[in-house]
Amino acid sequence: MVTTLITRNSGNHLIWIILATGTVCRAQPCKPIVPVIATRQALAASVASRPEAKFVRLEDVIPGLITDLRYATTNNFTHSVLYARGAAYMRQEPAAALARVQQELQKKHLALKVFDAYRPYSITCSLWHHTADKRYVANPRRGSHHNRGTAADLTLVDLRTGRELDMGTGFDNFTDTAHHDFAGLAPQVIANRRLLKHIMWKHGFNFVPTEWWHYHWRDKSYDVVDLGFDELK
Ligand SMILES: [Zn+2]
Repeated sequence: MVTTLITRNSGNHLIWIILATGTVCRAQPCKPIVPVIATRQALAASVASRPEAKFVRLEDVIPGLITDLRYATTNNFTHSVLYARGAAYMRQEPAAALARVQQELQKKHLALKVFDAYRPYSITCSLWHHTADKRYVANPRRGSHHNRGTAADLTLVDLRTGRELDMGTGFDNFTDTAHHDFAGLAPQVIANRRLLKHIMWKHGFNFVPTEWWHYHWRDKSYDVVDLGFDELK
């Protein structure tokens, strides 16, 4: 039995208590040095003058999107359930760009599969305490692109076979093999990674050198958010 309970502290920040196979793990508090939106009211105020900052569910705006939301399962590097309910949300502006990526991919009989998108700030704190390696997990002091609702972890699926393209490693593989510049890969794997990188870049996304699956919107002006998926509307 694996459950995630969510409570709030007096500062209205989420405290995630993860109960996984008898283990109770409480998120350590983080000390952010950037503003963190932690109430529905604050989010509503911040998007009132900026409609493109609204959060949208990716399945609602990207036809045919495939999801495998790993942090809602134990099939992730922490082996714990981090999300009580899996959901893929992004800000409207990058989500619309991702929809254009999907449209172009479908002409090649390909589709996007998303592993994670918006990630509540508290979850990044938990991940940091689990793996304090800034090559792979954003230091929570400044929050991450995922916390801003502008990043997605994803891969490509061949619609004719229903299988993921071979990217050389799985998602959240924290080894050199997952790096964009890792040379010891089969030509087809290199071509698959290039295809993903090229199409994401073309539609406004940037990448990080250490994770072939991670892409984020180039505009960094969105605020960090610490709300559950149900609180984004
Ligand atoms: Zn990522």
